[in-house]
Amino acid sequence: MEFDYVIVGAGLSGLTIAERIANELDEKVLIIEKRDHIGGNVYDFYDDGLLIQKYGPHIFHTKEKKVYDYLSKFTEWIDYEHRVLSYVDGKLVVMPICIDTLNKLYDLDLDEDSMHEWIDEHKEDIKEIKSSEDVVLANAGRDIYNKLFKNYTEKQWGTSAANLSPSVISRIPFRFNHDDRYFEDAYQGMPKEGYTKMCEKMIESDNIHVGLKADYKQYINRISYSKKLIYTGPIDYFYDYKYGELLYRCLNFVYEILDEDSYQDVAVVNYPNDPYFTRITEFKKLTGQNIKDKTAIMREYPGFNGEKCYPYPTQEYLDKFKLYEAEMEKEENVIFAGRLAKYKYYNMDLVVKDALEIFEKEIK
Ligand code: FAD
Ligand code: UDP
Repeated sequence: MEFDYVIVGAGLSGLTIAERIANELDEKVLIIEKRDHIGGNVYDFYDDGLLIQKYGPHIFHTKEKKVYDYLSKFTEWIDYEHRVLSYVDGKLVVMPICIDTLNKLYDLDLDEDSMHEWIDEHKEDIKEIKSSEDVVLANAGRDIYNKLFKNYTEKQWGTSAANLSPSVISRIPFRFNHDDRYFEDAYQGMPKEGYTKMCEKMIESDNIHVGLKADYKQYINRISYSKKLIYTGPIDYFYDYKYGELLYRCLNFVYEILDEDSYQDVAVVNYPNDPYFTRITEFKKLTGQNIKDKTAIMREYPGFNGEKCYPYPTQEYLDKFKLYEAEMEKEENVIFAGRLAKYKYYNMDLVVKDALEIFEKEIK
């Protein structure tokens, strides 16, 4: 069969580009995917009637109406605003930091003004923010850093927050109000029938063919396609590691089904000071499933083996990525997209936004 485009990877970036090519250009696409399922890291499935997100909790949130409108063509949404608690000193406190976090953690009665005073007394005067550690010290001081961020970050990344770029912890806001939501974006929700169903709808077109359980390198020389290759896998692998391996932080996701109605108060509870896992997700509280007497929970164990989840934002690897980036810019017949190829800590919405822009500017 003759294709117009080949796409490596059936994650959100690959599926978005495939959908656009198939439905707007009416051209033929082959998607090659290494795993035994589509969806990449947003894949979910049912076990004993409970919807499980295989690669950890995924909450859709975006400021971008364009992205929300685009995905809304393939799913309806359940209203959901994400709330996270962190288990510290035997208490469950609101994460991210807001007035209620400090009040509970330190047994205080602060309001907005007195929170400003408290923070002014505790924050450190750091002239130049060079690391993720600096971000917290400058915003809230050492004790908050030690209790809520230090061990979580060391566990999550296998190194001190002092070695990580400010961008990692800057994902977490600091608030001088009672807003206990994890995200502030205008559009937030969960796909009504799950992410896998949404992804299936994206590639319903007869123009799209999917090959699962296939590493593209084993097949690419035997496939006939007339236009471009779109690559959404790890960039070091694409170039046969010619500048060395790029490090990715990996997670191992372990879930269990309990004979209980409810395990915890909110969908995600962080355990910064547990030696092994970072957080526990209770899926029913995310997905809104109304199922009695059983519930699924998942723990996340970070390491350097397991599912490649996060590009590693230390200077060494950001510099190494630049070498690959220079090669990428020279390619005429290959387009790169997604979190792994761009080596960027993108959320789902930015992956989709980037894919839509790539389609408009480089394909259409
Ligand atoms: P992927 O989903 O990784 O897809 C790439 C695909 O390429 C994979 O399926 C892979 O198997 C395939 N592939 C790789 N190499 C090859 C090869 N050689 N041959 C064939 N196929 C190959 N974002 C949010 O917006 N909200 C959240 O709450 C959120 N939570 C997250 C939680 C965790 C634990 C993680 C890790 C990420 C989270 N994200 C979240 C980010 C979100 O998962 C990503 O932005 C998005 O899934 C990336 O899509 P992608 O297509 O770029 O990459
Ligand atoms: N973080 C932390 N304590 C927490 C939550 C987050 O120290 O309770 C740090 C950690 O370094 C993490 C980063 O903040 O990698 C960003 O958190 P976010 O929840 O955005 O990470 P995600 O799970 O979405 O990658």
